[in-house]
Amino acid sequence: MTHTRVALAAIIFVAFCASSTAQAPARSGPALPTLGDTSELSVSAERRLGDRIAASIYRDPDYLDDPVLGDYLQGIWLPLMAAARARGELAPELEQRFAWEVMQIRDRSINAFALPGGYLGVHMGLMAVVSSRDELASVLAHELSHVTQRHISRLMTKQSDQMPWVIAAMVLGVLAASKSPDAANAAIVGGQAAAMQNQLNFSRDMEREADRIGFAIMLDAGFEKQGFAGMFDKLQQAARLNDNGAFPYLRSHPLTTERIAEVKGRLQLEAPGPALPPATAPDASGERVLHAWMAARARVLGDPGVDGLRPLLAEAQRVPVTAGASGAWTPRDAGALYGGALAASRLRDHAQARSLAARLTVAAATRQQAELADTAQALALEIELAAGNSTDLPRLKNTRARAALLLQARADLAAGRAEEASSPLQGWVSNHPRDALAWQLLAQAYGKQGQTLRAIRADAESRVAQLDYPAARDRFKAAQDFMRSNRASGAAASNYIDGSIIDTRAREIDQLLREQALQEKLDRKL
Ligand SMILES: [Zn+2]
Repeated sequence: MTHTRVALAAIIFVAFCASSTAQAPARSGPALPTLGDTSELSVSAERRLGDRIAASIYRDPDYLDDPVLGDYLQGIWLPLMAAARARGELAPELEQRFAWEVMQIRDRSINAFALPGGYLGVHMGLMAVVSSRDELASVLAHELSHVTQRHISRLMTKQSDQMPWVIAAMVLGVLAASKSPDAANAAIVGGQAAAMQNQLNFSRDMEREADRIGFAIMLDAGFEKQGFAGMFDKLQQAARLNDNGAFPYLRSHPLTTERIAEVKGRLQLEAPGPALPPATAPDASGERVLHAWMAARARVLGDPGVDGLRPLLAEAQRVPVTAGASGAWTPRDAGALYGGALAASRLRDHAQARSLAARLTVAAATRQQAELADTAQALALEIELAAGNSTDLPRLKNTRARAALLLQARADLAAGRAEEASSPLQGWVSNHPRDALAWQLLAQAYGKQGQTLRAIRADAESRVAQLDYPAARDRFKAAQDFMRSNRASGAAASNYIDGSIIDTRAREIDQLLREQALQEKLDRKL
């Protein structure tokens, strides 16, 4: 149970945190210096705090970097960022200094969150339950607004008598408690985390501001306001059912009567648009079909146990064979087929996975929509790779997007074409140096070509990308040892350029670690 580990880690953090607050000098003593030197946490202090939290999340077994869902999220996130910038909500300093990264969390509870430093998180449960990309956009726009309005820095400043590592631990504890209560420990953490959550909750005014600005941003970014209405309906229903356990989102963003009234008023002011057709209406747009596929994918990734996967396969098997064949398709059927194909693959029923994916491919071809056809082709390739097939793998038509580029590289590696895999990956990481997954694939590609030094360096860079500097330093040291032993045996000389890159990077990481240690000393003095 992956949850157990997270929950246990949280308990340790929580216990630590509780005892240190107890020992903290009372507020009546001499004023303690705050984290920043103003009423708000400084931008760089907030980013440091965010990095600290993010580094823990990267190491959490429930952290997920699914490139397919990642591309889908980016397709929503980037227009929101652009709209926020155009409206003047996104200060240039924030834009430059913050991470602006949307993290995926393997958990089926319905939650999204904003962390210090421009890190955001989305649970698979939220992605599985939203019925359109507009609904997803409304949640992300709201979270984005919490960051751009510096709500987080103001909350953190309230905690300014806490050391940053304690705040980081509190945030991680609250996050762990927001997960599905699978593990018995989660309930224990829950009680303590609830108390911390109260300290970390946004105020009512902040919630209303995030609603107001988020709404304007999502409209400017071209999303439909029904998405906002739909998401709000979902939240209200859940609140009525008192279903907060599955909706941790409600705990961190409570629905107050003022908030509901303001949202309703805003939606009415913006003359109500036509409601979205139900998921069972045939001949849905390509966009709605793609969303249904992504929601189905999130369902599979969020609950990857046999008990979660079997019902998805059964649902797919119930979809009539005619569905999609003539171009008429309901999002529900389309989603069921995609989820079933992926679930079958995970259950190692490769024949079933292939046959369901083939139906998606045929249906996408009938509709003549390139994006759907590309997505169906990628799923078929993914299924072949999972089946261990390494011959006659189809080549993806379009590898511009990250998911396709990484998947094609995996296919090339499986087929023994390591050289073909490495060159697009090299190009990619030079533009996206924080892409840990791409670095890992590149390390494999170099390894298979016997380029040991480059393989170790790529592995080191993947650790840097996930902010694990000690592990990165170990890898760079290993690379330097390898160079030395090669030199001693007279083998090298060819790797002069690689060698000097590694020496430079090793020095840079050493420097980073020294700065980090110094910063921690300062933090502990506060
Ligand atoms: Zn909120």
